[in-house]
Amino acid sequence: TGRLYLVPTPIGNLEDMTFRAIRTLKEVDVIASEDTRNTQKLLNHFAIDTAQISYHEHNINERTPQLIEKMLSGQSVAQVSDAGMPSISDPGVELVKEAIRQGISVIPLPGPNAALTALIASGISPQPFYFFGFLPRKKKELVSTLKELNRRSDTLVFYESPHRIKQVVEQMVAVFGQERQLVLAREVTKRFEEFVRGNTDEVLKWLQNEQIRGEFVLIAEGNSAPQEEEAASWESLSLKEHVEAV
Ligand code: SAM
Repeated sequence: TGRLYLVPTPIGNLEDMTFRAIRTLKEVDVIASEDTRNTQKLLNHFAIDTAQISYHEHNINERTPQLIEKMLSGQSVAQVSDAGMPSISDPGVELVKEAIRQGISVIPLPGPNAALTALIASGISPQPFYFFGFLPRKKKELVSTLKELNRRSDTLVFYESPHRIKQVVEQMVAVFGQERQLVLAREVTKRFEEFVRGNTDEVLKWLQNEQIRGEFVLIAEGNSAPQEEEAASWESLSLKEHVEAV
């Protein structure tokens, strides 16, 4: 049987492509790409002429068995997403699960990833950390998710789009309070890479004065006293129950 290679690709700097990633993409029979046009630019740059097949969130159900079939018949597949590591807030996990189920070897390559790259320069303790990815879009769910996360002492790592980042940080000020350390890692590995470090309030002020462009990783310090937080919410719950009982 063929193998499934998981190949990370640069998150903004082509020099971050590894020798092994290039060789693997050259040697496999087919590359399963989140966006074939986007990946074609990468392939052209590194003179890779392997055929591509699209593999994205809207065709997972039909493509997964087709790719599995190829591997069972002896072909090797490399899976790539638009940028960074496949499966990390990107398509890939269904293919990995099915390959494992079918006894196909899954070979991960190390390489670029926005979350870890931002985390190591954030200055916030990386152990333990909790990778959340994209927060919910609707305000109510956003707030309830942040409240839930506020019970954790782990460092929190998020992905966010430029047009939502301000709204998210506003809610972080409200839920986490103004003292929590926050780091915005913007355009990591790119020409305009920038780290904004401060407490939630300072970071919000920066966002208010800035024309917000680019890609962001958001890193928040964990709650240093989550038990108190929990105790407080229990108190308010029992108070509410009490009121309802009365
Ligand atoms: N699979 C990718 C990875 O391993 O990092 C993540 C894909 S996710 C769809 C895209 C999000 O990652 C962006 O919205 C942004 O939050 C973050 N991101 C990607 N590249 C980035 C960069 N160069 N600088 C900062 N954040 C980045």
